[in-house]
Amino acid sequence: MVHLASVKNDDQVFDPKSRSIESLPAPQPDENDFYTNVYGSHFAADHLPQHEMPEREMPRQIAARMIKDELSLDGNPKLNFVTTYMEDEIEEIMTEAFSKNFIDYEEYPHSAEIQNRCVNMIARLFNCPTDARDENAMGTSTVGSSEAIMLGTLAMKKRWQNKRKAEGKDYSRPNIVMNSAVQVCWEKAARYFDVEERYVYCTEERYVIDPKEAVDLIDENTIGICAIIGTTYTGEYEDVKAINDLLVERNIDCPIHVDAASGGFVAPFTVPDLEWDFRLEKVVSINVSGHKYGLVYPGVGWVIWRSPEYLPKELVFNINYLGADQASFTLNFSKGASHIIGQYYQLIRLGKHGYRSIMVNLTRIADYMADQLKQMGMIIMSQGQGNGLPLVAFRLPPNPERVYDEFALAHQLRERGWIVPAYTMAPNSNKLQLMRIVVREDFSMNRCDSLITDVKLALQTLESMDQSMAAKYQAHMRSHRAHPRHKGHTHNAYHDEKHSLQGKSGKSHGVC
Ligand SMILES: *Cc1c(COP(=O)(O)O)cnc(C)c1O
Repeated sequence: MVHLASVKNDDQVFDPKSRSIESLPAPQPDENDFYTNVYGSHFAADHLPQHEMPEREMPRQIAARMIKDELSLDGNPKLNFVTTYMEDEIEEIMTEAFSKNFIDYEEYPHSAEIQNRCVNMIARLFNCPTDARDENAMGTSTVGSSEAIMLGTLAMKKRWQNKRKAEGKDYSRPNIVMNSAVQVCWEKAARYFDVEERYVYCTEERYVIDPKEAVDLIDENTIGICAIIGTTYTGEYEDVKAINDLLVERNIDCPIHVDAASGGFVAPFTVPDLEWDFRLEKVVSINVSGHKYGLVYPGVGWVIWRSPEYLPKELVFNINYLGADQASFTLNFSKGASHIIGQYYQLIRLGKHGYRSIMVNLTRIADYMADQLKQMGMIIMSQGQGNGLPLVAFRLPPNPERVYDEFALAHQLRERGWIVPAYTMAPNSNKLQLMRIVVREDFSMNRCDSLITDVKLALQTLESMDQSMAAKYQAHMRSHRAHPRHKGHTHNAYHDEKHSLQGKSGKSHGVC
């Protein structure tokens, strides 16, 4: 009776025992388990969970759609440093690599090999010593320049401590010398690792480190000097060579760490003759962000040391992970491998010629933008023609009659969809305000033209305001900046911090 089926009776079908398993009660199905029209479901009419993990699942299409809809209200992320465009081919490979844990060398030896190739290429791009007589330079990938800078600071501190110990001297009060325009991660590094911050302050005319002042600040407790290739405010390159030459001239044993977070993938292509890297003998370590002009999505960074002398052994751990021994110097353990793979793709896909073409184009667009803004009367504070990052830092011309400031202009532009941040400069520059437009890979001349048009329109709107209306506008803007929904994210206990440069002086931190 293969084709002729007998119909089972109830007592044959429903085994009462199987329906009353002694276990946890079965979950009750929900109409939404089967009902997939997003905006017809109750989820669309309910508040999305914000504080407590929900008790029940939600269908994946609905979860994805709700998050996507919310994120679409984020700013159009087009005018800061961080990469937002990569080619489809590598996006696909990076997606496939999402599940790879970079630290697991045993399972993913090729990801480790790819990282090592990147370290080699970047170290050579920075002219590390490669002569047969030299000890091998070394480096590692990081999550970004911040981790790289933490590692660089730790290495300088440990080397200084070792030297002091060997000399039988006190090693309890290390300090580091840097520009007050440093990115906030330097303040963090100093604070987290108990190193005193010694600042060379900017002035109203100078936004980079003064080499002589920096070297004069050095004493026996100085672990190193930080020099920046591409500051976050004006994109200028600090004079690393002048610092180097002063150290050599005065015979001071103090290393330089170069923070080339943004400039590390620009300067070698736009100003190859500028000596800022390992060509200078006092430069012992350099960091660069892969996710800025390295052209990879966030977060990947790199740090390179000129020789093992500058990376003390005590900091490096040989971890045996599932049978394979690996030397490791990182702050965290597990991390994804995709960004390292993305970096390798960009390096071999573009080559030096590709990076140069992109960086030259960006520089030309930035120069054009600066020229247009100048014609509108703006004061340009960044360097053009490749002598700094491809960005335009500018401020409004001095005019006591004017009823609006840079923050008002930023707000006007935001209403037109552009995020051009306004900043208050580093301390001692008389609370100078400026605005910054970063020209990134996907900022073509066409986009640049649209922005110029919108800056003109924004200025017209602001000009047309009279005193009382402008006052109302500034007040409205201030209330906007303290949007209650966003303000709520800072715990009251941390609201009024007074220990950072921002807390002390009103400097606003450059956001990447
Ligand atoms: C962006 C930046 C940093 C921090 O880098 P991340 O990669 O975002 O961690 C540090 N220094 C400078 C000069 C920067 O521009």
